Amino acid sequence: MASLPREPFSLQGGCLCRSVRYQITFPKFDERQILNPNHPPDQPDIRAPLVCFDHCNDCRKASGTPVQTWIICPQEYIRFTLLRRSAGAESPTVDMSGNQLVHPNSASEETYLTHYSSSKSVWRTFCCRCGTNISFVAYEEAGSETLMDLLLGTLDRESLELVGMPEHHIWWDLGIGWVKKLTAEGDGSASGNALPRHPKGDIYQLA
Ligand SMILES: [Zn+2]
Repeated sequence: MASLPREPFSLQGGCLCRSVRYQITFPKFDERQILNPNHPPDQPDIRAPLVCFDHCNDCRKASGTPVQTWIICPQEYIRFTLLRRSAGAESPTVDMSGNQLVHPNSASEETYLTHYSSSKSVWRTFCCRCGTNISFVAYEEAGSETLMDLLLGTLDRESLELVGMPEHHIWWDLGIGWVKKLTAEGDGSASGNALPRHPKGDIYQLA
């Protein structure tokens, strides 16, 4: 992620059928939100975005990939443009910010973006037209309630190449053996520059 601009920039993404589109807009580096302001005092601030592998069982299933990857951003940085289901409306799309889409609302009925609660206080969204998973929010988890995790693979190619490789492995302890081997071999382990591995979801706790 060292390649991310320090000046303001934006990323674009969406689902396969383009019914769900989003843009993430970042201010300059010094103004980007610190992801967990309550982190241990001896640990450095980590500013948005956080780009990580997620080896947990639920996210593996929800994504349909052997390892999930996220770009984690403040909800207020994200703007969605959602295609309406019915033609003839005054505008073919609905614009909403990330924090307006944490919980199901009228957009869930008027557009193809659909919410699914996979566990307590968690909303995931997906496009019900093409099936692409879009986001995850743990809305009661301290430090996470203002964030939204977007599936890294939903970024448009140019944005994905700009963001670069994930910088953390979270839920390392739940990973599939061959997936951990595959990701670890490519992450610099051989040269002693491996990505930090976190046994669960706390990026300040090391394996
Ligand atoms: Zn779609």
